[in-house]
Amino acid sequence: MNCSYCNRKAVYFQRHSGKHLCRKHFVENFLKRVKRSIRKYRMVRRNERIAVALSGGKDSVVLAQVLKTLYGERRDIELHAITVDEGIEGYRPPTVEISERLCRELDIEHHVVSFRDEIGLELDEIVKKGNRNACSYCGVFRKYLLNKKAKEIGATKLATGHNLDDETQTILLNFLQSDIERMARLVPSRVQKGLVMRIKPLREIYEREIVVYALLHNLPVSLEECPYSREPVRAAVRDFLYEFENKYPGRKFSIMRSFETLLPCLWEMYPQIDLNSCELCGEPTPRRICQACELKRELGLI
Ligand code: SF4
Ligand SMILES: [Zn+2]
Ligand SMILES: [Zn+2]
Repeated sequence: MNCSYCNRKAVYFQRHSGKHLCRKHFVENFLKRVKRSIRKYRMVRRNERIAVALSGGKDSVVLAQVLKTLYGERRDIELHAITVDEGIEGYRPPTVEISERLCRELDIEHHVVSFRDEIGLELDEIVKKGNRNACSYCGVFRKYLLNKKAKEIGATKLATGHNLDDETQTILLNFLQSDIERMARLVPSRVQKGLVMRIKPLREIYEREIVVYALLHNLPVSLEECPYSREPVRAAVRDFLYEFENKYPGRKFSIMRSFETLLPCLWEMYPQIDLNSCELCGEPTPRRICQACELKRELGLI
């Protein structure tokens, strides 16, 4: 099958547009859509230091390469990468290596922060000690460390690799669980003191396009799944959306458009409150003590 735009061999069939794309036109289309999202949400401005949250999985690896492609020549934009080593035996060490290799290849300054050094224990030890599931600790501590490190290196933005599939799953999940406030916080409405603003440049790119992009560029990625990953409700939403999109291509975009239309109302309903500084660690929190310190206290680490 030939590309819908030229005579070259197609490498990808884009279901939502009905177009066959050769390598050149696939990459062009991919980058154009990333740039459009960045512009629409004003994710990147002038004189930015962007820290990429780099796990070594396909999304964050592609994100780092794409940002380097788009901004590598800009003198006023500096890229860094932060990898959090949670301490998950067998799973995390190879992805830390991938991240190091990628940053060397892309010439991006790489920072690794570990649960062991910063929290006091590795996630494998925390799970044995505590009585919550692994993701409850991991999610809180990872966010905490990413923000802390991003601030330390003077980053103005923290870029994460969330894609269209992740975002639409979260939107639907929040809706199904009646957590509209959390939905409002999916996109920050303004800068908050102490919190490095998060951006998601791949939020309008399908997961399978990210896989194809990684393959076409021969990027080192890990496709391993975390051994602790167990989210039955999210998995059900993911499967439902997969079936739905398969039958009616482009519906994930419709979910995103509906969400964007609702966003101003959501921001009005749930305005972002000013954050306090945690009394124990100084990190931003809506309460007196931040969640990371609460968990550390629960684990007897402070
Ligand atoms: S799936 Fe693994 S890496 Fe992801 S939050 Fe849970 S424990 Fe952490
Ligand atoms: Zn083409
Ligand atoms: Zn704290």
